Amino acid sequence: MATLALDLACARELDAHDPLARFRDEFVISQEVAASVTEGRPLTTDPDTLYLDGNSLGRLPKRTVARLQNAIEHEWGKRLVRGWGEGWMDAPARIGAKIAQLIGAQRDEVIVADSTSTNFYKLVYAALDARAGRTQIVTETVNFPTDAYILQGIARTRGVEITYVDSTDGITISTDAIVNAIERNKCALVTLTHTAFKSGYVYDMQAVTDAAHRAGALVLWDLSHSVGSLPVDLNACDADLAVGCTYKYLNGGPGAPAFLYVRRDLQEQLLNPIQGWFGQRDQFAMGFEYAPAQGMTRFLVGTPPMLSLLAIEAGVDLLLEAGIENLRAKSVQQTEFLIALWDAWLKPFGVTLNSPRDANMRGSHVSLGHPDGLRIDRALIEEMHVIPDFRPPDNIRFGIAPIYTRFEDIYCAMERMRRVMQEKLYEKYPSERRVVT
Ligand SMILES: *Cc1c(COP(=O)(O)O)cnc(C)c1O
Repeated sequence: MATLALDLACARELDAHDPLARFRDEFVISQEVAASVTEGRPLTTDPDTLYLDGNSLGRLPKRTVARLQNAIEHEWGKRLVRGWGEGWMDAPARIGAKIAQLIGAQRDEVIVADSTSTNFYKLVYAALDARAGRTQIVTETVNFPTDAYILQGIARTRGVEITYVDSTDGITISTDAIVNAIERNKCALVTLTHTAFKSGYVYDMQAVTDAAHRAGALVLWDLSHSVGSLPVDLNACDADLAVGCTYKYLNGGPGAPAFLYVRRDLQEQLLNPIQGWFGQRDQFAMGFEYAPAQGMTRFLVGTPPMLSLLAIEAGVDLLLEAGIENLRAKSVQQTEFLIALWDAWLKPFGVTLNSPRDANMRGSHVSLGHPDGLRIDRALIEEMHVIPDFRPPDNIRFGIAPIYTRFEDIYCAMERMRRVMQEKLYEKYPSERRVVT
């Protein structure tokens, strides 16, 4: 990256040579013009909205519009209940099998159901049952809140203790610290978010999984910020369990159901604590006693939200067409580009890099920190039409979705942020948080 010129021509040159460039046209990109442009203070570059929050809600694939239109008008509208026999019933496993290819799993090791939170609950609970008598769960303090809350609730009702490993710098968590916290014969489960949601730090999946296994514990990975942005190899790491979102880098749409993975040899050992009829063996026999279905089907609960479920498939297909290794290569190049611009333009204003500098330890988003981060975030959104998001205490997160983010987007976003800093445009905004940041 050091050899790159930091100018718009260079960003456009990188886009012109991007082998994945054609995929941007697969997404709905609306043309909104930044407010400051209409107020007569033109931006020097592309005035369109720069969306850098694909790690929170991915863009809408055009193919999904067509797919949903058919699902609504034809499948629901005309086929009605017959739809269940014409592709709906198979959808959780069919789409799961596609997601499996992005995370190094077998086709029959992944299924789509419920939310990430619910799947996380199901697998934590099942893991504790499978390690009965063990009383320790290991996680860390900067884990995603829903994961922490669910662990706390389960710990309370199941009488287990959570060991929290601290981050010393707020960005990384040392693998050694995790490994040292795992107590042999006592630890039932180690659970981590593979790519940390604030800093983008990526754990060493192999090292942590090996350490958990040496202690006789299971490992549960939350892949929400990894899937679709970087290669994950669950099978190669011998990972036991995983969950993840479909509405972030998979572009499945708001609230689209999540996925869960259980290594094949564990599937018959683990039981779903929520014994719903979709997880029942021979479901339509309508028997009275619960008997878990074979394989991943037992981890289903109730009727899937079919429209949201069907909306996932086209986004996953696009990622498979692009190739996860290609997406990762572009993502690394783009986060490096963003960091180079930060270094040149924003560091002098006291903006810190709150993500790992080493690309091998970094996912596909970059967090920039400043004591006025919340107000800077608002100025970016309201005046500059740059859409990152904000995570306390001071992280402005720039999510790069390599399937549609351009180098030009990154260049212009950093240029607009420089302007926010130079002109102190954030000073007029209050420091209180709004409901959604
Ligand atoms: C986004 C995210 C979730 C979201 O869970 P939902 O149940 O879909 O709200 C969970 N865990 C992690 C790590 C996330 O990044």
